[in-house]
Amino acid sequence: MYDPAKIRADFPILAREVNGKPLVYLDNGASAQKPRVVIDAMTHAYEHEYANVHRGLHHLSTIATEKYEAVRGIVARFLNAPDPEEIVFTTGTTEGINLVSYAWAAPRLAAGDEIVLSVLEHHANIVPWHFLRERQGVVLKWVEPEADGSLDPQRVIDAIGPKTKLVAVTQMSNVTGTRVDVAAICRGAKEKGVPVLVDGSQGAVHGPVSIPDIGCDFYAITGHKLYGPSGSGAIWIAKERMAEMRPFLGGGDMIRDVYRDSVTYNDAPMKFEAGTPGIVQQIGMGVALEYLMALGMENVAAHEATLRDYATKRLKGLNWLNLQGTAAGKGAIFSFTLEGAAHAHDISTVLDKKGIAVRAGTHCAMPLLEFFGVGATCRASFGLYNTTDEVDRLIEGLELCHELFA
Ligand code: PLP
Repeated sequence: MYDPAKIRADFPILAREVNGKPLVYLDNGASAQKPRVVIDAMTHAYEHEYANVHRGLHHLSTIATEKYEAVRGIVARFLNAPDPEEIVFTTGTTEGINLVSYAWAAPRLAAGDEIVLSVLEHHANIVPWHFLRERQGVVLKWVEPEADGSLDPQRVIDAIGPKTKLVAVTQMSNVTGTRVDVAAICRGAKEKGVPVLVDGSQGAVHGPVSIPDIGCDFYAITGHKLYGPSGSGAIWIAKERMAEMRPFLGGGDMIRDVYRDSVTYNDAPMKFEAGTPGIVQQIGMGVALEYLMALGMENVAAHEATLRDYATKRLKGLNWLNLQGTAAGKGAIFSFTLEGAAHAHDISTVLDKKGIAVRAGTHCAMPLLEFFGVGATCRASFGLYNTTDEVDRLIEGLELCHELFA
């Protein structure tokens, strides 16, 4: 049975106080806390099994390489991806999407070619495409959400025209928790012969993922939101797309032979992994994913659905609070503003005094905030260890903000 109290005990930081109050950590959308198993595995790796990977024949290098390479298989299992060779390690989603932009899109797209993307996107799934707009005249075709923040997959499919070369879309908004039916988008795009990149930064954290069911071409994840270390991550890339990619960063590991006047490259996926990687970070991410799979992502999703329903009910009871994004089936991520003069930063500061960590600002999603007509919001983003008691603490904190700022 899913027992939040037991799960909380796995995360040492949750036992601490902030400003003399028990910590209520509701900034999971930005980065999640780490379970003891991840922290211990990383310490163990540094204390007993650390060396560079792929390069040494000595004992420690062999163990480090085995542990590191095993993570490819763990990521593949986590994503239900058919082949670990289709997993490229990255430092996170930002690097994964930039890899696709530089290695796949830049050499293939010409002036006037289009990339379809939604207004829901995080800057990590916008700016790499802006580079192509600035540098080679690629056109960004934006798909608007509905008023409740949901994204109609048909609108995305309808936006795909003869000049469209890629669809880049998130599986879940980091601002509102809106879930996007990426499988429907992929089906429609496939009929039109257009590849789809899915930003799984949030989607993979809040429910099970199955690459064959989604049917995308690229799927990026970031380890630190998946209860793993920062600087870890991966992108799943379909074999056909990998074969179309040129290398991105050049250096050690990604080559086969280097001569004075020529170079040959390693096979994929290492062709796309130049230099010494985040060895221990990726090992830590592997442990985090094993932890999640042991909990069961369906169970995580069910727990978070309970939190979402309870938090929605309580937040809707505050008639001086405006929720941005109320789409059905959304995840437990809430963006809101308070009526009156209070700025999101002020609200976040007051909540912090009560030990409650939320995020305030534009959440790296300025086009979406512009769509909602707000300059900044507060965001409470829940994770697998949060509880309904913590929802109550948030509501108490917000009531205090209302008293102070109304
Ligand atoms: N995409 C989404 C939806 C996100 O929420 C984030 C992080 O907030 C990113 C991309 C970027 O992830 P990272 O900073 O780990 O590369």
